Amino acid sequence: MRINKSYKKCYVCGKPYTSLCDATNENMEPCNMPMCDNHRNRVSDGLDIDVCDKHNNPKDIEQAKKNRIERERARLYFRERYFAEIELRKPGDMFYDPATKKEVDDWIEKRKKEDIFIKLILLYKRGGTGNEM
Ligand SMILES: [Zn+2]
Ligand SMILES: [Zn+2]
Repeated sequence: MRINKSYKKCYVCGKPYTSLCDATNENMEPCNMPMCDNHRNRVSDGLDIDVCDKHNNPKDIEQAKKNRIERERARLYFRERYFAEIELRKPGDMFYDPATKKEVDDWIEKRKKEDIFIKLILLYKRGGTGNEM
């Protein structure tokens, strides 16, 4: 997967990284190994999928493809729920890059609680009765 931020360094040569490994480790956590253009292994040119040397084998590449599709779905799902359910939007929300729908669910639930909390504070400051809600 290609990324734009470059505060991490390539795990091989230490140059600013341009991609993260899309494969999954044995513990089911995403690998996310940072890699530069020279040291990433492009899965195929049409797809924005990269793996590190450890995951450069057919089985892990297959998993990396699945992860990438899942991530794409999670991103769409996030936008859907975000625009439908979140009223108080913050700058930076659109940079949220969830890997799974489950992550999106957790994020939305957490933010909804914050929304309610902020609304209550605003009401309280205005001396409202709560009937406005
Ligand atoms: Zn490198
Ligand atoms: Zn990897």
